Amino acid sequence: MTVARLKGFRGMGLSRQRPIGVTHWAIWSLPRRVLFLILTVELVAVAAVAASATTAATVGPALFAEGDLLVFAVLAGAGIISTEASLGVERARHRREDGPHIDLSSVWAFAAAALLPGLLACAVVIVISAHLYARSWRKVGVPPYRVVFSVATVLLAVHAAASVLHLVDESTLFSTAIGLVPVVLAVLTYAAVNMFLVVAAIALNGQDRHVPRFVQLLRHGDDAVLEFATLSMGALVAGAMSAFGAYYAVLVLPPLIVLHRTVLVRQLEEAASIDGKTGLLNAAAWHAKAGRELRRAERAQERAAVLVLDLDHFKLVNDRHGHLVGDTVLAAVAAAVRAEVRDDDLVGRFGGEEFVVLLRGVDVDNNRTGAEAVAERIRRRIAALEVEVPGPHGPAVLDQFTVSIGGAVNPPDDLDLARLIACADTAMYEAKHRGRNRVRMGLQPTRDTA
Ligand code: GH3
Ligand code: MG
Ligand code: MG
Repeated sequence: MTVARLKGFRGMGLSRQRPIGVTHWAIWSLPRRVLFLILTVELVAVAAVAASATTAATVGPALFAEGDLLVFAVLAGAGIISTEASLGVERARHRREDGPHIDLSSVWAFAAAALLPGLLACAVVIVISAHLYARSWRKVGVPPYRVVFSVATVLLAVHAAASVLHLVDESTLFSTAIGLVPVVLAVLTYAAVNMFLVVAAIALNGQDRHVPRFVQLLRHGDDAVLEFATLSMGALVAGAMSAFGAYYAVLVLPPLIVLHRTVLVRQLEEAASIDGKTGLLNAAAWHAKAGRELRRAERAQERAAVLVLDLDHFKLVNDRHGHLVGDTVLAAVAAAVRAEVRDDDLVGRFGGEEFVVLLRGVDVDNNRTGAEAVAERIRRRIAALEVEVPGPHGPAVLDQFTVSIGGAVNPPDDLDLARLIACADTAMYEAKHRGRNRVRMGLQPTRDTA
């Protein structure tokens, strides 16, 4: 896992202008707490590499055994080949990601930690990362400071994993059943050190509201599964190499390349359900998810509510300030709506400047009031919204946005989503007709009256 692509760092270091000197490096524009973490991690990594170098120098006249050099060459070479084979996929993934980036090179890094003395293991990581940077990350605009930090986290993870493996007698590793225990512990240690440092850097950079909270980042289960899959392959590579010979590492190349492609497919699927301007679910994805959620709610005898939101006189914003400013306001409104509902409520962009929300688990005894209270909170938040936009004389702040909201709560019997939306939509138009900037709840729709 690396910190190579962070939405919160957007604009920092992606500039096409040539840096003039050290003082202009993108890293200095980071918040101090992030800078502190990055520099500390890098310092500790340098110290760890220096300690490995000292140990290596005292081993004997031949710095490394011939077998070690062969393992180093095979791992570094396999890492370079797997990067070359997945260049297109890697670049496409980088363009689409906002959070931690799993680059799959931990296969080779973990195998190096298991098989090589510290200094050579570090060399494998550095060679593979330098090649990855030159061939992929540089071309998609990843600034060097993020690469250096990512390499530092991997070096620390490699040291931590190697320390766990060295706790037991080497002859038991990859040969006895009990030897599996330290291998699994080393995988867990590698993942924990690497993920913790990367996620901490992202979370500390949380001055940007787009950056998810620490806990949410850690909960991103798919990334963790991918990291463990990659590390397990690294353990298999190490086992095959130590049992059958260094060249057996090549057998992992085909499954690794296939795994890389499936990751891209998953990311494309996710991207296809997101509205580009606001980051919310697009209409089709919202419909699909809301339909499923409504069926689940009915089975569980829970209630759900739909809110339909339409910004008031939004055409005026475009007419006065232009469509680009209008788009910035739409994104700010989307973030405001998202911030007022729970993480598992579904927020979508219905079209234009219309949004739709499915509220889960609306209070059964007090359902109307529950959904209405949420809608009222959203209305007030949007009324208080201030959006900074670029103006002809520098940044300007726009405010006094209002929204009309219509809501409907599903009854306990079965009801389809379309009728619930229609009911909320009618209520929204009623709010418009009554003067805008208000919430109207629709009559509770039933099969008889709808
Ligand atoms: P009201 O809803 O209060 O009746 O007035 P309104 O001006 O908001 O009218 P309506 O809901 O019909 O507004 C649609 C306007 O939203 C038209 C268009 O200028 C603007 N709009 C729709 N989609 C976008 C978009 O993606 N970006 C921008 N900037 N504006 C959009
Ligand atoms: Mg509209
Ligand atoms: Mg409108």
